[in-house]
Amino acid sequence: MPHLLDYAATCAGFSWDAIRAELQGLPDNRGLNIAHEAVDRHADGPLGDRVALQWLGADDAVRAITYAELKALSNRFANVLRELGIGAADTVCALAGRIPELYVAALGTLKNRSVFCPLFSAFGPEPIFQRLSRGDAKLLLTSERLYRLKVHPLRDKLPKLEHVLLTDAESHPEGGLLSLPERMAAASADFVIPPTDPEDVALLHFTSGTTGMPKGALHVHGAALVHYMTGKYVMDFHPDDVFWCTADPGWVTGTSYGIIAPLMHGIRNVVDEADFDAVRWCRILAEQHVSVWYTAPTAIRRFMRMGIEPVHDYDLSRLRVLHSVGEPLNPEAVVWGVKALGLPIHDNWWQTETGGIMIANFPAMEIRPGSMGRPLPGIEAAIVRRRNDGSVEPIEAPDVQGDLALRPGWPSMFRGYLHDEERYRKCFDGGWYLTGDLARRDADGYFWFVGRADDIIKTSGHMVGPFEVESTLMEHPAVAEAGVIGKPDPLIGEMVKAFVALKPGFAPGDDLRLELIGFARKKLGSAVAPKEIDFKPDLPKNKAGKIMRRLLKARELGLPEGDLSTLEDSA
Ligand code: AMP
Repeated sequence: MPHLLDYAATCAGFSWDAIRAELQGLPDNRGLNIAHEAVDRHADGPLGDRVALQWLGADDAVRAITYAELKALSNRFANVLRELGIGAADTVCALAGRIPELYVAALGTLKNRSVFCPLFSAFGPEPIFQRLSRGDAKLLLTSERLYRLKVHPLRDKLPKLEHVLLTDAESHPEGGLLSLPERMAAASADFVIPPTDPEDVALLHFTSGTTGMPKGALHVHGAALVHYMTGKYVMDFHPDDVFWCTADPGWVTGTSYGIIAPLMHGIRNVVDEADFDAVRWCRILAEQHVSVWYTAPTAIRRFMRMGIEPVHDYDLSRLRVLHSVGEPLNPEAVVWGVKALGLPIHDNWWQTETGGIMIANFPAMEIRPGSMGRPLPGIEAAIVRRRNDGSVEPIEAPDVQGDLALRPGWPSMFRGYLHDEERYRKCFDGGWYLTGDLARRDADGYFWFVGRADDIIKTSGHMVGPFEVESTLMEHPAVAEAGVIGKPDPLIGEMVKAFVALKPGFAPGDDLRLELIGFARKKLGSAVAPKEIDFKPDLPKNKAGKIMRRLLKARELGLPEGDLSTLEDSA
C-alpha cells in the first residue's frame, strides 16, 4: 500500500519533527549525519547483509556491496581523508564515472564531515577547472585517464588542490598523485563519525547561472530529512524494493536519489556504469527486478523511439512506480509509459537549490499528464508576481502564469552560494524563495511548468549556463562576440546553439564552423559545447552593451521580438 494515500490528511498532519523521529541520529545525541542514516544504521542492524549497491559495470561485470561492506569501505575512505589532513568543511571533489569508488567516496567524505562535491565526468577541462577552483577543492578523486585529460593541463592554476587520489593507479609521488587502492588497503575499517550538527555543510553542487560562472549551492546534513521523506512519499520505497535512478551523481539527482534517499530506506540501489542504451536498459529493468525507477524525459523520449513492441520482449512485471524529473515530461510520454511499460510515468519537480523533490505526482494520486504535480507535505509552493515597486505577491487565482516560489525553511534548502552571498540573497524576496521558473497552478493545486524566467539552457536534462559557453567561444582568435541560446529540440529538450560575430580578417564558412565546434568541445566537453553555430555580422545588444539572447532566440524561432526599446541602435 502506498505510504501517501490521502494527500490532504498527510499534509495536515505533517511535521518535520515526526520525520526526524523516523531517523536514528548519531549515538549519544551526537547529531545527524547523512552517511550514518544511509549506511551505518542499516549495517549495524538486521540489514547488514542486504545488498546496498548493485553495481553493473559497462563491461557487464557485477559487484554487489552489502550495507556492512559499504560501512567498512566508507570508513576506510574517511580514514584515508583523515590521514591526509582533510578535515571538517574541506571540499572533496570527485570526477569519475559511475564506479563503486565514487559512491564509497561520497559516503566516506560525509562521515568525515568534509564537503562532497561531485563533478560530471563528461565535462571538459574548462568547466572542471572552474568548479575545482571556485569550490576550493582540497582533494580530488578521479581516474588516471580523466586526470591526464581534464585536470593535469590546468593543475598549476589550482594551488589549493593538495591531493589527487587515483582510483586505478599506483602512486606517483612526484606529481602529488596517490593511489586510492593502496591508501584504502592501508586504512582502518573502523571509524567513529564525529559529532555532526544538522547545519554542518555536507554537499556542494554546482549549477549554472545566466550571468557569470557556475554557482556552488551548499547543502547541510539536515537535508537528509527531505531525502528520507521524499523517498517515502514520492518514491514510495518499501523494504523489498529494488531502485534504479539513472542520473549521474555529477548532477544533484544522482546524489540525492542515486545515493542518499534509497540507502536511507535500506533498499537495494542499482547503479549502471554504462551510458544510455534502450536495449541494455530494458535488460537491467528485467534482470535486476527493478521495482521503482527514476529517470528523465530525454531518456524516455529515446526509449519512445524504440517503439512499444521491443519493450514487450522483457519481463518488466516487477516495475511498480516510474518517476521522471529534470525537464518537462510531455503528456505523450506519460501515455507511452502505460502502453509500453504498463504504468504511467510520475513527473516531479525540484532543482539543485532545493536539495530534494518539492512538487510531485504521488503514486496514489491521479496523474495529470503534463503537470509536475502537487507540493510535498511540509512544502509551501506558490505562483507569485513581482509588483512594479519590486515587492512580491502570491497570485491566488488559478491558471495564471507567474514565478514559481517556495516558502523558505525546508531542511534541504540550500544554505548559500559559495563565496557569493549577494547572489544568494537575491533569490529571496517578500518571504519567498524565487526558483527562476515560470509556472501556473490549476484550481486543484496541481502545478504546470511554463519555462525558465532566465536564459538557462536545459539540454538532455542538464543545466548549461550560456555565459560559460560564450566565454569559451570568445577565447578563439576568430571570435569577436558570442551569444548562446537553447533551441527547442524534440529529443533532448533544448540544444545549445551559438551565434558568433567574427573579428575583422576572418570569414564565415563551414571550415571555421567545424573548427569552433571542435574548439568548444575540447574545452567544454560534449555535454556543454554548442551543437550548432551561426555566423552573424553583428549580435543584438542592449544599450548597456549586453548581448540580447532573448532576441536571438525570438529571431531564431520566428517568434515576436517583444519590447525592443532597450536595443542598441546598431543592431
Ligand atoms: P537542476 O538544478 O540542474 O536540477 O535543474 C533544475 C531545473 O530543471 C528547474 O529549475 C526547472 O527549470 C527544470 N526542471 C526540473 N524538473 C522539472 C520538471 N519536472 N518539469 C519541468 N522542468 C523541470
